[in-house]
Amino acid sequence: VSQSPSKFPSKILELMDGFRASKALFVASKLKIFDHLKDKGPMKAVDIANDIGTSVCGTERLLDACASLGLLEKTPQGYSNTDSANTFLTSDGKYSLHGYIIHSNDHLWPLFTNLESAVKEGGRQNHRAFGKKADDLFKDYYHSQEVKQRFMAAMHSIAHLTARDVATAFDLSQFKSACDLGGCTGALAHELVQVYPNLKVTVFDLPEVIANISYFQPSGQHPAPVTFVSGDFFKDNLPEADLYILSRVLHDWPDEKIHVLLSKISAVCRPGSALLVAETVLDEQKTNPSVAVLQSLSMTEGKQRSGSEYKQLLEKYGFTDVQIKITGNLLDAVLCFKKSLSL
Ligand code: SAM
Repeated sequence: VSQSPSKFPSKILELMDGFRASKALFVASKLKIFDHLKDKGPMKAVDIANDIGTSVCGTERLLDACASLGLLEKTPQGYSNTDSANTFLTSDGKYSLHGYIIHSNDHLWPLFTNLESAVKEGGRQNHRAFGKKADDLFKDYYHSQEVKQRFMAAMHSIAHLTARDVATAFDLSQFKSACDLGGCTGALAHELVQVYPNLKVTVFDLPEVIANISYFQPSGQHPAPVTFVSGDFFKDNLPEADLYILSRVLHDWPDEKIHVLLSKISAVCRPGSALLVAETVLDEQKTNPSVAVLQSLSMTEGKQRSGSEYKQLLEKYGFTDVQIKITGNLLDAVLCFKKSLSL
């Protein structure tokens, strides 16, 4: 007689179903269901299906799935957005995650479909997912206007959401100028000038990105306090600044590239200048937070690091007084200072 297990494996069953839940969110976002329901009273499945041109039975199942996942509310009058869907899932909200969700569906999903090969081979699976060789990560993203815009929107949505925590993790009021290397759409830069009105911030990114930033700039601003400069941070001179920022940059690159980048930053820093790194910092066992551990499975040539690994890396390039602030909200912050010559 087989014994029943001592504990029901809820966690495992939840993980087995995780992909269905992710895909339901992705498809509802792609079909712009949350945009459709924004600010509207409850709507019936048949009306939503007619408006967006989908089947009634399929739409009803998707809407019920979204309600079951807590993304929609369902009443006898129909479906409506939860507050969270209005804030994070509509495509034009200030804190919209729509861009990242579409990137997850269109880019990460095909990559993760090939995870088994990725683990066997130890590399990214671009060739299997998209039929091309994994070149420089960003050359992949920027080869077409559509993919580039999608990637920028994805970066923007997370950067915007995390910017306040990153900007306030440390008191940066001592700095007069900052340069956000790989600063993309300027989401963090705009937050920094809000928090530190005397700070001048330059965003430095590839020309393909800088040419496309206008869509992401906050509206109704006085003469932009943020300056955008295009260039390649591995090859070109870096703008002068008291504070350099690398937000979600270090985890993308292999050690040789990081060597080039951190050597360059260290060389342009004057004693007392600082470097702020924004990343999800792993615990010392490197099994948490899972968001960073799971991101590693994309198998870029870079890696996620623990606090002591960031400290060791930064000290190797002449930075000292490395301080780590765990925000608990996706991006943590690491601040360090260029060693003075006498040290
Ligand atoms: N810092 C932003 C954030 O936290 O949301 C964007 C992070 S995104 C993962 C990396 C950024 O680095 C992209 O905007 C990309 O265009 C930029 N980048 C990649 N290679 C670069 C290079 N060689 N020179 C300058 N920027 C580069």
